[in-house]
Amino acid sequence: MQSILIRLREDFQLSIITLVGLCSLIGITPYIVFRLLEGNLWIGLIDTFLVISTGFSVLYAWRTGDTIRPGQFLAIIYSAGAVFVSIKLGVNGLFWFYTLILFNFFVVPPLQSAMATSAALTAVCIYGYMHPGQVFESHYQMTSFAVTCLIASLFASVFAYRGRRQREQLIELAALDPLTRAGNRRAMDRELDIAMAEYQRHATRYGLLVLDLDWFKEVNDVHGHKAGDQVLMEFTRIVVKSCRKSDRLFRMGGEEFVLLLPMVDRQGLEQAARHICMSVAEQLRSPGGPVTVSIGGCMLHDHPSTDAWMHEADQCLYQAKDQGRDGYAISAAGKPA
Ligand code: GH3
Ligand code: MG
Ligand code: MG
Repeated sequence: MQSILIRLREDFQLSIITLVGLCSLIGITPYIVFRLLEGNLWIGLIDTFLVISTGFSVLYAWRTGDTIRPGQFLAIIYSAGAVFVSIKLGVNGLFWFYTLILFNFFVVPPLQSAMATSAALTAVCIYGYMHPGQVFESHYQMTSFAVTCLIASLFASVFAYRGRRQREQLIELAALDPLTRAGNRRAMDRELDIAMAEYQRHATRYGLLVLDLDWFKEVNDVHGHKAGDQVLMEFTRIVVKSCRKSDRLFRMGGEEFVLLLPMVDRQGLEQAARHICMSVAEQLRSPGGPVTVSIGGCMLHDHPSTDAWMHEADQCLYQAKDQGRDGYAISAAGKPA
């Protein structure tokens, strides 16, 4: 039960598909009985198909974690369902279109949703135009229906787009350090876990560098915290510029950063450390003059945990500090023979 609640809380799309699925099941099931009792076999069968397919889609999303395909499947069958119900029931079935507009915007991205709704609307209007009196009572009614659906769809798409953008921004912000915009500690823990799993499963090579600014306390003490913050931001910019696009920089805390380098060997890791040291020494300035960095690093090998991996890189950092700072030390452990 606990794990179900956690998944519902953490996976927004899964919770939406589940909610929408439950609403559909609760909302449509009584109609199956009603349609069958009034002798409307076709509509009863369509409703039954929708309910069973919805149940399967929700189960599939829960079992596989894939919410994209079930969402698309639901958007297609409900759009087709709305067209059939409108053709069979006429004006009484058309009201379901307004529910469909909202439904589609919940289960698929805004563009796909607009496409599914427009396709269903076009189909019902063409059918209605070719069979006067069957779906719409007049052309005027058909035009009013099409226009109100389009306006409702437009409002829903603007709302869905805004919601999606804000959610993406929140997810991004939750993984970033607010001062430097490097990844934060939470993001780092997650990526180190992924790296460890990739190494164990596919032997993908990963290197780790721990970077610590030299004599940074002095910058703060002499020139103030604001100047220190400025140096931290500039440091991040220099490191990001000096490394590959696939490398990921995180701020561990204070003036200590971690760089995760995928698909690198020990020699590459050493070159990266050297390059960063040089770039920082050349470019990073505080009001008091140049600021340097010390770096410790190691390759991921048979570490029992990410903490052990980090600890080995930390030991190298101490070594680089002991050797006089503005330099790097890379562990020889795990070096291929
Ligand atoms: P070392 O070369 O041995 O690393 O010396 P250090 O002075 O860099 O190391 P120490 O750990 O003594 O000092 C770290 C300083 O980093 C202490 C604190 O003033 C500063 N600091 C930590 N977080 C922030 C921050 O967010 N902004 C600013 N401006 N300073 C910070
Ligand atoms: Mg320091
Ligand atoms: Mg430090």
